Order: sequence, then C-alpha cells, then structure tokens
Amino acid sequence: MSSTFLGVPRRGHDHPESPLRGTESFPKAAHHELANAQLRRNLAHATSSIRAKRALVVGEMPDWEALRDSGSAIKADVMARLPELLERLEANVTARGGVVHWAADAEEANRIVTELVRATGATEVVKVKSMATQEIGLNEYLEERGIAAVETDLAELIVQLAHDKPSHILVPAIHRNRTEVRDIFLAEMADAPADLTDEPRRLAMAAREHLRRKFLTARVAVSGANFGIADTGTLCVVESEGNGRMCLTLPQTLITVMGIEKLLPTFSDLEVFLQLLPRSSTGERMNPYTSLWTGVTPGDGPQEFHLILLDNGRTNALADQVGRAALHCIRCSACLNVCPVYERTGGHAYGSVYPGPIGAVLTPQLTGMDGHGDPNSSLPYASSLCGACYDVCPVKIDIPSLLVELRGRAVDNDRDRNIPGGWDAAMKAAAWVMSDEKRFAAAEKGLALGRVLGGRKHRIRHLPPPLSAWTGTRDLPAPPAQTFRSWWRDTHPAAGTANATQAQR
Ligand code: SF4
Repeated sequence: MSSTFLGVPRRGHDHPESPLRGTESFPKAAHHELANAQLRRNLAHATSSIRAKRALVVGEMPDWEALRDSGSAIKADVMARLPELLERLEANVTARGGVVHWAADAEEANRIVTELVRATGATEVVKVKSMATQEIGLNEYLEERGIAAVETDLAELIVQLAHDKPSHILVPAIHRNRTEVRDIFLAEMADAPADLTDEPRRLAMAAREHLRRKFLTARVAVSGANFGIADTGTLCVVESEGNGRMCLTLPQTLITVMGIEKLLPTFSDLEVFLQLLPRSSTGERMNPYTSLWTGVTPGDGPQEFHLILLDNGRTNALADQVGRAALHCIRCSACLNVCPVYERTGGHAYGSVYPGPIGAVLTPQLTGMDGHGDPNSSLPYASSLCGACYDVCPVKIDIPSLLVELRGRAVDNDRDRNIPGGWDAAMKAAAWVMSDEKRFAAAEKGLALGRVLGGRKHRIRHLPPPLSAWTGTRDLPAPPAQTFRSWWRDTHPAAGTANATQAQR
C-alpha cells in the first residue's frame, strides 16, 4: 500500500465539476424539481410501494434489531481497523492472481481504468451499476478518451441513453415513466424495434436484446463492489437483473472500482449484510443475483482482474466523527424511500450522485463544505429531521443527529469568516428590542399590522426580504388579537408590567 495513501489531504471544491457537487443550492434546485408534477407522481408511487414491501419483509424478521446492531458493530470495527484490513484485502487479492491499485482521488482512479482498458486494445466496456464509478465520472472520462462505457443495468441504461442523471441510488430512472422510456429507446437505441410499445415486457425484451449483443462482444467489464472481504480477498456484487453476472463472468478483463469503506473483515460477516441489504433496498427476502469472485480462476471467468481501491475524500471523512458514521452506509436507499423531502423533490435537487438523507450527510463530508454560497452547505437543511431515515437504516446511522451537527458547522463556517448569517442578525435584532421596555412596547404596537396582513385566515403568506426567507416556504401565523403583556395587565392589575415581563421570561 502506498505510504501516502491514507490521510491524503483533499478538498472536493478543487474539482468544481465533480459529480459529487451541485452547482446550485438545494432550495433553488428543489424549486425547479417541485414544478415537475410527473416526477412527484412517479416518486410517490415508487417510494410508497418500496416502503410497503420493505415493511412487510422486515416485519417478519424477529431478530431484525439484532441484525441491525450486528451490521452497525461490524461497520464500526471496519472503520477502526481500516488500514490493516485494506492491506489484508490487497494481500489476498494479489495472492489469488488479482492486481490491486490505489487511487487517492477521482482523477487517479479514472486514469488507472483508462490505462487498463487501453492496454487491452478495447474501445468499449460493459458496466455493472456502480455508485463509485458515477462518483468519479468514469463514463464521461472514458468517452472523452474514445472509450464507450455501456451501462447494462436497465435503469442505468435508460438514464444513459437519455443523457440524463440518476435520481435514486437504487432506481436511477425513478423519474421516468414507461412512455418516456419507449421514446428514449426509439430515439437512442439503434437496434430498438420500430413497433416498440410502452408495455413493460416489450421494453425489457428490447433492452435485453440490445444488451445481449454487448455482453457477447465485450472484452472488458467495469464494476463496483458492494462488499470486499479482507480475509479471503473476495469481492461481492448484488443485483437484480443478472446483467451484473454477465459482466462479471463473460469478458476477459474485469476492472472493479471499490470505495475503501466497503470492506468486511471476514466471509461470515456477509451473512449479516446479505440479510440486511435486500430487505432494506428492494424489499426482497433474498437478493436475486449475488456474485462472488476471488482473484482469477484459470479457464473460468475473466482471466485478468484489477481492483482499484478508491479514497476520493474517504480518509478525510474517516478522521471526522460525522464522516466516519456516514461511511457505514451500504447504499440500500431505504432512507431515501421514507424521506418526505426526497419524496417531493427527487434526487436531482441534491446535485450529487448521492441524494436523499445519506447524500445530505455524505456529500459535504466527501467534498467539503465551504459555508455561505457553497451548495454543499445547504444540503444538511434538506431534511425535516423527522427521524424516519434513522428508523429504517439497516446499519443504524443516526442521520438526523449528523445533519444537526453539519448544520452547526455550516453556521460556524460563516461565523468564522465574519459572514453575517440571517439567524445571527435576527437574534441580535430581537435582543436589542427585548432588552428595553420601551422598544418592546413599540414593537408590540407594530404587531397590529401583522394582524391586518393575516387577513381573515390569520395566516401571513408574503413578507418583504429578509423575512421572505420564512414566508417563501411556509405561512406565518398572524399575531393574536391580544399580546401576553396586555392580557397580564388586564388579568393582574395589581402586579404591573414589570411582573409581566418577568412572567414572560
Ligand atoms: S444511510 Fe442507511 S438507510 Fe440510507 S442508504 Fe445508507 S445504509 Fe441505507
């Protein structure tokens, strides 16, 4: 292992076009997405059915909470021993005929993949759905260098053909309906039948025929990994369509890009995660296709295997209490499916390949949070803090607490740079008014205007800036007809105003 690998200082904002960073704040991006009624309908339908399936299969597990505890404990152990376990994984992969590469950032990982593909003479690779390769922008990097990367997961294929971006970790084309998919196939898939309808079976058959041709001619495959087992050097990919199995077995060369946090210490640890993951992600008792491979087996499967271990901000996150917890994530997407914010905005509003509650924690951790004006600083606020994400997380990541911690850091960032925050200014103004009896009495008189603005419904819908920051997203109740101090004077005539102020405190 490179001696400088772990702990490489890295700030994501050095890479402004990283697929991990949005270009506009969450509220602005969400505003555009909320205007898309089709998106909201698709999201509501898809997330509610996945939620119901998950609840059913989780409910039938008497030891579910014990499994969650085990998953959490295994991940905590991995984080505590990450350097040692990574070296063990490297030794075992190498001993079984694989080659291990270390990539400190996206650029290095992309360069390694490109060189490996070029060495085979191939100009096209087939891909298994992989968050890590999306995170580093591998497809775009390869394309710029004359290598076509073909996504073989059906939803990823739809997104790729539409020149679109995934909007869900598990269901990347959740924002598309079947008529849109038919139109995309007809426009972008040269071998799509001219009489293709939007019947799901016909769409799947068209994609299958298209992909079969790719699988049978591909010489190189690129995958991610759900788990890497340190003790044996075994890699594991779980998927639902069998496309992954094709990629992992047919081509001559297999290149796997794995985030360094995906480690498990021993093979038996898989038992816990292969129960937690399918139930939490697709609501299935067992995963349909679970592929495991260890190095190279002569005469069987790819004869060349490269494993690229990707840091890309993870060692920085590991050194941080908040980031370390976020690295426990197994990308099941259960937290997205229960999040009321995600259900309305969809994934694109988060501006990162990692959307939803975990994305709001992970993205600022991996790429930094520069405070005022940085889109990442708005992500921790993309939550109602209802706690549903924590309840469903199979590895018990306390996302609401992490979001609150990150909100505090976003405020501190601004304070450290002497950027006046709206909250600070409002508190100072309130302190100035409330610390003086006359000023407070004058402010109370101003409340009469609020009652006028509230109208018959007693709700204020629009206020001028900076107060519009509040009414832009929610109504303000109109002030009551009688203030507390006035009520106190009426009901306690002997006590006086000073005591009213006391009681108010
Ligand atoms: S944070 Fe938990 S619930 Fe969300 S994707 Fe990760 S493992 Fe799943």
